[in-house]
Amino acid sequence: MNTLQEAREQVLHQIQQVCQQAGRDVKSVQLLAVSKTHPSEMLREMYVAGQRAFGENYLQESLEKIEALSDLDIEWHFIGHVQRNKTKHLAEKFAWVHGVDRLIIAERLSGQREASQRALNICLQVNIDAQDSKDGCQPEDVADLVKNISRFPHLKLRGLMVIPAPNHPQAFFDAKALFDTVKSQHAHPEDWDTLSMGMSADMSEAITAGSTMVRVGSALFGARDYSQ
Ligand SMILES: *Cc1c(COP(=O)(O)O)cnc(C)c1O
Repeated sequence: MNTLQEAREQVLHQIQQVCQQAGRDVKSVQLLAVSKTHPSEMLREMYVAGQRAFGENYLQESLEKIEALSDLDIEWHFIGHVQRNKTKHLAEKFAWVHGVDRLIIAERLSGQREASQRALNICLQVNIDAQDSKDGCQPEDVADLVKNISRFPHLKLRGLMVIPAPNHPQAFFDAKALFDTVKSQHAHPEDWDTLSMGMSADMSEAITAGSTMVRVGSALFGARDYSQ
């Protein structure tokens, strides 16, 4: 096995162990490989190791990789901050957008998604632990946003995404409670199926609390180099 394949096996093993301890089905947690700053060749290698879902943060960089890897059957997730003037490319090129936190962003994404494409999967980003500098809507705004976003024809609102402050595992339980509350009030609860939380350092805590999608970068690809 090469290093990337080994790293992926290790992460999958960790997911499996935590699921077992938490009494969860291992199939209920999806691994999103966060590949920002890493070259396309590394993604290709990770793909060969079996990975299909990749998460990117920076629009220009991700568009280049999508082009370079267009021969592969990759499911592309945008997990960065969504700027209002960048929604067109996201609507055209991605299968998922995790960082939606305002109605106007959802409205633009739906309007710019081609009718011939499958609905764009989105998650509502919530500022679950009241951080000052973070993106995300407020927990008390979630119910209204869900109701309004659910009306957009070319979107499929799947659930919530959170990025709590480090070493704050309670935030994962708060996110799970909010997720469950929305589900209990949802007109189509089966469509509300994704809780995107947990990264390399805290994926175990997130899975224990109920994450259905962990976004893992450095544990898969190694440390990131931002100097380029
Ligand atoms: C970079 C990033 C990750 C991955 O972080 P690691 O600590 O490298 O696993 C996950 N989610 C978001 C939103 C990110 O920006």
